[in-house]
Amino acid sequence: MARIALITGASRGIGRAIALKLAQDGFSIWANYATGKEAAESLCREIVDLGGAAIPVGFSVRDSKSVRESLEPLIEKHGPPHVIVSNAGITKDGLLAMMSDEEWSSVIETNLTGFFNVTRVCIREMLRKRAGRVIAISSLSGEAGNAGQVNYAASKAGLIGACKALAKEVAKRNITVNVVAPGFIETDMVKELPKDELVKQVPLLRFGKPEEVAAAVSFLASDAAGYITGNVLSVNGVMYM
Ligand code: NAP
Repeated sequence: MARIALITGASRGIGRAIALKLAQDGFSIWANYATGKEAAESLCREIVDLGGAAIPVGFSVRDSKSVRESLEPLIEKHGPPHVIVSNAGITKDGLLAMMSDEEWSSVIETNLTGFFNVTRVCIREMLRKRAGRVIAISSLSGEAGNAGQVNYAASKAGLIGACKALAKEVAKRNITVNVVAPGFIETDMVKELPKDELVKQVPLLRFGKPEEVAAAVSFLASDAAGYITGNVLSVNGVMYM
């Protein structure tokens, strides 16, 4: 039976590319979405048409009850995922002095608490199976900080700390935990940004593609990466802010 990969925020952008790549790698995909039901359904049809297996799974990663109610029955029926990719994320940029409670808490709850909610539901059965991969999508902003993104950088740096700690907790059960930290990647998330200006700050002189992040995730999810854990793999065109 194919091993399962759960990808949060798989309806668009980087998550969609990760789902397609892991499906090509032979994983059966649980494609989570929050609002993009049709997009997730269409992704799953595309994977099935290519000869793979995929199901859409709707929940907001912020809502721990909904995460549990969606994932527990799937885990009971199929077993836990072999790979969890915590990719769902949002930005609400603005200077700290002007930041609202909602701008702070919604970003932390989605990007960081979302990781906690999803991983907690899956990890116990993964520990029982003594196998698995936990991969979180952080950001260059979490590694280096970025003005106007105190909320986002805090959430993404939090993911790095959480993954380093979890890597130590679960290592003896043969589960690896790693982070992929993209720079500017061509998705909806950056479409409002002044690309012509920003691209000059990237030594490779271009934004990355979702598929280039997916390639890093695919490697970390593979058996070949079994001795790599507690690491951050940057995918940023050698950009350091
Ligand atoms: P995107 O195109 O805006 O897509 C965001 C995805 O997250 C969507 O699939 C969305 O689902 C999902 N999502 C948002 N809130 C959610 C929630 N509460 N529960 C479940 N899913 C939720 O963004 P992207 O660029 O692909 O970003 C993917 C990840 O990479 C994010 O964590 C982001 O921070 C990180 N990242 C991106 C860049 C970049 O330059 N693009 C750089 C560094 C890091 P629905 O559409 O179904 O609502």
